[in-house]
Amino acid sequence: MLTKLTDHIFYLPADARTDRPILAAIVGRDHVAMLDAGNSPAHADRFLAELQTITPRRPDWVLLTHWHWDHTFGLAHPGIPAIGQKALTANLAKLQNLAWDDAALAERVASGVEITFCAENIGKEYGAARDIHVALPTITFEEMLTLHLGGVTCELRHLPTDHSDDSIAVYVPEDGVVFLGDALGPALYAPTPYYAADQILRLRDLVESLPARWFVESHSAPLSREDFWADNEILILVATLIHEGYTDADAIMAAVARRAAHPIPEDAAEVIALFLSAPPRTL
Ligand SMILES: [Zn+2]
Repeated sequence: MLTKLTDHIFYLPADARTDRPILAAIVGRDHVAMLDAGNSPAHADRFLAELQTITPRRPDWVLLTHWHWDHTFGLAHPGIPAIGQKALTANLAKLQNLAWDDAALAERVASGVEITFCAENIGKEYGAARDIHVALPTITFEEMLTLHLGGVTCELRHLPTDHSDDSIAVYVPEDGVVFLGDALGPALYAPTPYYAADQILRLRDLVESLPARWFVESHSAPLSREDFWADNEILILVATLIHEGYTDADAIMAAVARRAAHPIPEDAAEVIALFLSAPPRTL
């Protein structure tokens, strides 16, 4: 069953067992948009079958939040045109001639171009039969694209981060919903994963400027505005401290303890370590 979030938006929740992200439909009077293609054809099919209980129409477009496998590998099968940021095409094209068997994945993990977490989940999602075809987007845009679905619109905005340079946010103003993909995730494909303080603060500014009621990150449940800020308090606080010039993990933890309005989450030390792993750059 799809869960109804708002008048026009229905979603299939994320499933951590094989790292399936949220898939959603934005259903307008005239057109339907699907958010992300799923991590496999099976994932896409599951969503499309569930969507039949909401509307007899198939999606007119798939909006791809970024190139990572769990958001895009479902695209090849349904044959629905996809829309993404300009850099998405080259990012996906690089994956088109790769092999996906265990040996090929292990080799890419060893050479640092693939990460263990993704290789493991690809194995779990596909089993032994790795019939993976990587499809490319049909329509790309640079900074912003608006889709009019009939009574509801999708504003696609480029949101480059170290998680991926082709990340987009999809804002649905009529319903007060913003889909953020994995934009708030760390740079996972870097030799040492990290968070960049300047990017997190830039994302905070963008998110703050959108009068949304619901914030949807791809690997967790949709959050109300209040819960979203509470959930991301430590992330933003640590980014702020780094921006202020803090460079020592213990000093940052002490400042977090002084300033945080909510209880310090268990992974706070991990978040601080990720920020301190960022390559040097000018703020
Ligand atoms: Zn991702």
